[in-house]
Amino acid sequence: MSSPDSIAVIGGGPAGLMAAEVLAAAGHAVTVFDAKPSVGRKFLLAGKGGLNLTHSEPFEPFVGRFGTRAAQIAPLLRGFDADALRTWAAGLGVQTFVGTSGRVFPTDLKAAPLLRAWLQRLRAAGVKFAMRHRWTGWADDGSLRFATPDGERLVTPRATLLALGGASWPQLGSDGAWAPWLAARGVDVAPLQPANCGFDVGPTAAHAAGPGWSERFATEFAGQPVKPVALATDGVASRPGEFVITATGIEGSLVYAASSALREQIARTGTATLALDLLPQLTPERVLAEVKHPRGSRSLSSHLKSRLNLGALKLGLLHELLTREQMLDAATLAAALKSLPLTLHAPRPVAEAISTAGGVRFEALTDGLMLTALPGVFVAGEMLDWEAPTGGYLLTASLASGRAAAQGLVGWLAGPR
Ligand SMILES: Cc1cc2nc3c(=O)[nH]c(=O)nc-3n(C[C@H](O)[C@H](O)[C@H](O)COP(=O)(O)OP(=O)(O)OC[C@H]3O[C@@H](n4cnc5c(N)ncnc54)[C@H](O)[C@@H]3O)c2cc1C
Repeated sequence: MSSPDSIAVIGGGPAGLMAAEVLAAAGHAVTVFDAKPSVGRKFLLAGKGGLNLTHSEPFEPFVGRFGTRAAQIAPLLRGFDADALRTWAAGLGVQTFVGTSGRVFPTDLKAAPLLRAWLQRLRAAGVKFAMRHRWTGWADDGSLRFATPDGERLVTPRATLLALGGASWPQLGSDGAWAPWLAARGVDVAPLQPANCGFDVGPTAAHAAGPGWSERFATEFAGQPVKPVALATDGVASRPGEFVITATGIEGSLVYAASSALREQIARTGTATLALDLLPQLTPERVLAEVKHPRGSRSLSSHLKSRLNLGALKLGLLHELLTREQMLDAATLAAALKSLPLTLHAPRPVAEAISTAGGVRFEALTDGLMLTALPGVFVAGEMLDWEAPTGGYLLTASLASGRAAAQGLVGWLAGPR
């Protein structure tokens, strides 16, 4: 693939594979390079818990999930939206269904059959794969440098499309190492940060020295889900669901949904505060009435258990987060049951996150997703500066941007330069 007629797609995740498909369909010779021995490792992992391909909600709320980057993501999704994605999957023999939450899954929930069919189709279209090729930047003459098991290989393609992913789960291949290399070439890269991530708590009333839970609480409850519960924070209205206690904090769907707001609060003020509603099914008045109900000789814990059906974990949370005085004051305790403040002091590292915020800023790109600082180099997928909650939005935007960048590349090659 030193042939100057070929196009190099670096990164064989969903974005790079979609780009390769569009480039091959336009008649270009394409090689997909990847650092790992096989492509699509994160995609396969995404399939472990049920592959959430996209979301069935209408276009406007769908685009709204991309927050401050909605305006930049909208044109990409107009070219490849949730319906287009479902049709594309069907073309690979993978039927999809809409779950109760509106999320869209393959009928067998798995990623492997889709990836297998996709790779077969790509090979049939002439796409070549160069595995164990870790891109390490550019040589002085502008060629691409790859570290391979046989030593360094230099490649001079006609154009390059980078789809290197973010920095989460680096063991699967995307480690964010590209960020300083692009920045050194004058590309505006927003710092890579965890998105859809867990957080460390602390200090708590029971562990004032913080950070983290008291040892007793962590030992007893780490790994357990808190449910039902509702969670709110500055800028995020209370929503019901569940989250999980970890050794040092919290994670899980409710936390991920609020993670961008929480991360920004922490960056601004050093901490973020959550309000937990431990009894979302009951009104504050009812909770107060039950707390005030005479408890006779019963301990406070058995009183709360019998009147409000509070389990060990929720009781543990109260003891962890409230002082003894607060526990013993009925009005304070009742208010806390409906709005228990929990302080977070740091997001978990990006390596543990579901996805990555930050990356190549759209301002550094043409409409066709080419780097203005590096003509002939296009960028797609999670390495772009956008973030979205879980729900199928991440894969949809990765695929849509892979397609848009490839179309941009085709147009650039065809146009005057
Ligand atoms: C546990 C988990 C579950 C998820 N579940 C879902 C889900 O259900 N629905 C959803 O929408 N999203 C989900 N996601 C997110 C989704 O998988 C990603 O957003 C998506 O894979 C990003 O695609 P990408 O092509 O941009 O990058 P990636 O999939 O990360 O692919 C990047 C590729 O680039 C390669 N690469 C990186 N650096 C180099 C280099 N220097 N040289 C050569 N190759 C390199 C990597 O090896 C990798 O193959 C999940 C993520 C995780 C971690």
